[in-house]
Amino acid sequence: MAIIIDGKALAAKCKEEIRQQVASLKRRPGLAVILVGNNPASRVYVTSKEKDCAECGIYSEEYALPAEFGQEALLELIDTLNHNAEIDGILVQLPLPKGYDYDEQEVLLSIDPRKDVDAFHPYNVGRIMIGDYTFLPCTPAGVMEMLDAYGIDPAGKKCVVVGRSNIVGKPQAMLLLHRHGTVTICHSRTPELAAVTREADILVSAVGKTGLITADMVKEGAAVIDVAMNRDENGKLCGDVDFQAVKEKAGWITPVPGGCGPMTRVMLLRNTLSAALANGKG
Ligand code: NAP
Repeated sequence: MAIIIDGKALAAKCKEEIRQQVASLKRRPGLAVILVGNNPASRVYVTSKEKDCAECGIYSEEYALPAEFGQEALLELIDTLNHNAEIDGILVQLPLPKGYDYDEQEVLLSIDPRKDVDAFHPYNVGRIMIGDYTFLPCTPAGVMEMLDAYGIDPAGKKCVVVGRSNIVGKPQAMLLLHRHGTVTICHSRTPELAAVTREADILVSAVGKTGLITADMVKEGAAVIDVAMNRDENGKLCGDVDFQAVKEKAGWITPVPGGCGPMTRVMLLRNTLSAALANGKG
């Protein structure tokens, strides 16, 4: 029976540490969150980010903009925030509304890399690649934090990451590599996925397909990290991993909800704190 990795409890501990560090700063960190359009899921994320900031003493500004706000106006707003000394982090909630003239890549490029607390700017992506970074993307950073907290050292282990997105899969693989894991990345065109995942000492699934990872795909005693946030047929939040069956076989497992989600949220606060420190607010 696996040890259940309690992301919620660990996130609460990290948050308290951040709150204490923020309280000791000369000036408070500031985060600007930009939400364009009225995607309900994005609305929930933005509200929770503001609540998290308030709990840690981080100043936050929300820009809730209509879908038709437009690319040029958005770039102008980002430029203003880039030059605003109160603001250390700028986050544009993705996806931007479909059916308008938004260019997400241009938007991400317009954020000052020193304020890019999502770590999506190519400059920060490049720094992650060479292992010299100020920010890590929040979800993979949260995964590493959980592995560390439970004494799961990637060094010398076979690590398999399922999913190769720029925001989760690729940076996750890179972080495991930096920590001396032997890393394999799988994706939709990987043949015989089960044969690959069965080799993993550390298995991270970041796909978005309920029930993708079944018990027969998991090595006995492996650490299984489920990044996905899916809805089952009853609308209940769930991951990629068949939690009930896999927990009987794995050594460690993250639940959904209560695993990667809370850790992702708290890593944004840590990034904002790091940005403020780099900005001389310490
Ligand atoms: P994404 O951009 O859609 O990427 C999904 C990846 O899964 C792709 O690389 C895709 O391969 C691969 N894939 C699809 N079907 C597959 C299959 N049958 N076998 C193996 N690989 C397959 O998604 P994402 O943004 O990385 O997010 C992944 C999941 O994590 C989603 O459920 C998302 O909601 C969740 N998420 C959670 C958090 C959190 O806070 N916990 C944060 C971010 C994301 P190809 O590249 O070949 O298409």
